[in-house]
Formats: sequence, C-alpha cells, structure tokens
Amino acid sequence: MRMLEGKSAIITGSTSGIGLGVAEALAAAGADVMLNGFGDAQAIERERARVSAENTVKAIYHGADMSKPADIQAMAEVAKTAFGKIDIIVNNAGIQHVSPLEEFPPEKWDAILAINLSSAFHLSRLVFTDMKARGWGRIINVASAHGLVASPFKSAYVAAKHGVVGLTKTIALEGAEYGVTCNAICPGYVLTPLVEKQIPDTAKARGISEEAVVRDVLLAAQATKQFVTTSQLGALAVFLSSDAAAQITGIALPMDGGWTAH
Ligand code: NAD
Repeated sequence: MRMLEGKSAIITGSTSGIGLGVAEALAAAGADVMLNGFGDAQAIERERARVSAENTVKAIYHGADMSKPADIQAMAEVAKTAFGKIDIIVNNAGIQHVSPLEEFPPEKWDAILAINLSSAFHLSRLVFTDMKARGWGRIINVASAHGLVASPFKSAYVAAKHGVVGLTKTIALEGAEYGVTCNAICPGYVLTPLVEKQIPDTAKARGISEEAVVRDVLLAAQATKQFVTTSQLGALAVFLSSDAAAQITGIALPMDGGWTAH
C-alpha cells in the first residue's frame, strides 16, 4: 500500500511549478488530489487527466482565485464533496513583484498579501475543524527562504512569506493536541515561471544583465550553485504528510541549497 493511500489533498497554485510538483508527488504516494490555479483550460485538463491516470488516483480541478475568500470556500466545499474529507492542504499559490519600495504599486502589495498570505489563513480555517475532529491533518505552507531572510526590492513578498511562517507556528500550536501538524517549507530558488518572469525585472531594478541576475543574484547565496527542483520539494511534502513526521510541527524548513546557512 502506498504511504498516502486513502488520503486526499488540496494543493493551491498547482497548475504550474512547485504546486504541480507537489501534487504529482502526493498523487504518486497514493493521495487523491485537487489541483487549483490559472492557465489554459485544455492544458490544465491534460495535466489533471495525466496525474490521475499515471498514479491511479482521483484528480480534480477547481479554478478558485486565491485572492477571493468566497472562491476558496467554494473550492473547499467541492473537494470535501468529491473526496469525503480533506486530509492535507498545501498552501502554495503565490505571485511575485520586484521593484524598489518607492515605486512598489500598492495594488501589487495588496494582491501579494492576499494570494501569498491571506489565502493560507482562509483555506486552513475552513478545513481545520474537520481535521481536528478526525485526529489527523497536515497543513503545509510553501513559504520561502524569503520567509526567513530578506532581499531588496521584494517588500510585499518578504513581508507575506514572513507572515506565512508566523501563521504556520500559530496553527501548529492550535492543532498540536489533535494530530494536526502545520509546517512551512522554505525553498530557495526553483526555476519555475515565477522565477523566470522576475529575471528581466531584477535586471532592470539592479541595472545588470539577465545572465548576471542568475549568477550573481539568484544563485549567489545558494551555496550549492544549483536550483532546487520541484520533485525535491514534492518529496519533502510527502515526508511531512507521513506518519513519520507526526512530531514535526511549527517549523520553517529551508530547502535552499545552503542559502540561509550564510
Ligand atoms: P509558478 O508561477 O510556477 O506557479 C504559481 C501557481 O500559483 C500557478 O499554478 C498559478 O496559476 C497559481 N496562482 C497564481 N495566482 C493565483 C490566484 N490568484 N489564485 C489561484 N492560483 C494562483 O510559481 P512557483 O515558483 O511554483 O511558486 C509556487 C510557490 O512557491 C509560491 O508561493 C512561491 O512564492 C513559492 N516559492 C517559489 C520559489 C521559486 O524559486 N520558484 C522559491 C520560494 C518559494
């Protein structure tokens, strides 16, 4: 029997990048999965069907906008109806914007706080009662190395990710006696569309070339000089979802090639 057979999971922001890698890893471990996120409808349907068929699990999709609490509620209700229960949530949806503080658009600040931080509160709140009642639950928040340390020009992102780490600790304490763990994963740089998109903006903000951004900014602090991969993060999410991780709660665990060791 696979480790997560009989479990079900919602992974927000899983039409791309880390979320998709985590969804694939949870499905490979036997969990039914709900995918969420934006993108081309046909491409999303192909991914959903592939994840389901390759892993012989139920895979469904909901297009909730994670900046909208009513959408998040609708998504949680659809998942509960489809799966009967929700055992694991992975709060992963996120966006980025890179610019100096004085030029940082206030509407980008609001969007980043809503999607990267508040959505984790909204979804966790909705599944917590049932998880506690069943005596088992896993809440995994995809924070960032930027939940532990800062970089310039990322005020909203760094604030939101530090907020996610704080939220993680509080949920962990509230769930601790009910078999519900809550942990934050803090990835270093992973070469996903979110990172690819910020390379030109970072080049502009710092007045350097895009090659220099990869070498001297993105991988400068990452001691291994390698990007973290989505499958490595997926394996970590599977471990945190396992019974072996029952006593791990309230942590912010870096997977960052040594970045935060500096
Ligand atoms: P990505 O752009 O590849 O994927 C982001 C996902 O979120 C997509 O599925 C997208 O459709 C979804 N999304 C965006 N806005 C949404 C909204 N309003 N509602 C619902 N879904 C929405 O990015 P990624 O790099 O895979 O990032 C995933 C998470 O990992 C983010 O929280 C990000 O901050 C975090 N992270 C990424 C890195 C990295 O280097 N890539 C490092 C640390 C942390």
